[in-house]
Amino acid sequence: MKKNIKTVVLMVSMAVITTCGIMSCTSSRDEGGILKVDTRSTVDYLLPCKGGYLLIDTSYPDNYDLFKKGLAALNITVGEIRYIMVTHHHNDHSGFAARLAAESGATIIAHEGAVPLLHAGKSMPYKKYVNRCTKIIFSMIVKVFDGSPEHDFTPVPEGFPIIPVKGNDDHLLRTIGIRGKIICTPGHTDDSISILMDDGRAFIGDLAMNFLNICSCQRRPALINDMKQLYTSWNSIIAAGARIIYPAHGDPFPVRDLRQSMNDNPAQ
Ligand SMILES: [Zn+2]
Repeated sequence: MKKNIKTVVLMVSMAVITTCGIMSCTSSRDEGGILKVDTRSTVDYLLPCKGGYLLIDTSYPDNYDLFKKGLAALNITVGEIRYIMVTHHHNDHSGFAARLAAESGATIIAHEGAVPLLHAGKSMPYKKYVNRCTKIIFSMIVKVFDGSPEHDFTPVPEGFPIIPVKGNDDHLLRTIGIRGKIICTPGHTDDSISILMDDGRAFIGDLAMNFLNICSCQRRPALINDMKQLYTSWNSIIAAGARIIYPAHGDPFPVRDLRQSMNDNPAQ
């Protein structure tokens, strides 16, 4: 019994530490030229494109002002954001997409399956957590940051410019000056998409996470729709040449971590 209490106290402490660690907003330009704004729980990446930037993901609706501060620290104006690619519809990825698109005039890029959900401002119900430890701690963290118990977000009005992604696309990004392609990577959600750059950098949203490692997630996302499908997507980005994974939650990591995780945690 005492051991159980100790375990719970340790887990809660670690959750608090993790939570405090992601309370502040930071923005940076790393040695590889990656631009990012870390808005509490979600890391939003920026890729230079024709006429400005493509932003990969937004964050929770309430984090918009925090994001703008981070953007200003990078000397980038809201008006320079020409595209907003939402890796999937969850509210910590599309939360302020509507506000940002309205203010910047940016075009949203999303999987075709995400489009009706963006218009509704609704998240699909979560299917399952990767394990019990993750369920306890992640639920606590979500309660702190997510202002909506239903995981709602600001709807994207009908008529806003949205480019629906209908399948793997090796053309769209090149037309806007980005040397990379879009790959459909379901598993975390049905509407998950990723960007794989020609140099092997992969921006994958929640297809994998470097987060809650005390729960032995081993890069698996906290929430999973379909484990086998998730691993199929991991294998597809590996086969396509991914080298470094840039998750929306946590620091980048080498692609070998995905292979190791699949080895250690076979799909049930
Ligand atoms: Zn998600």
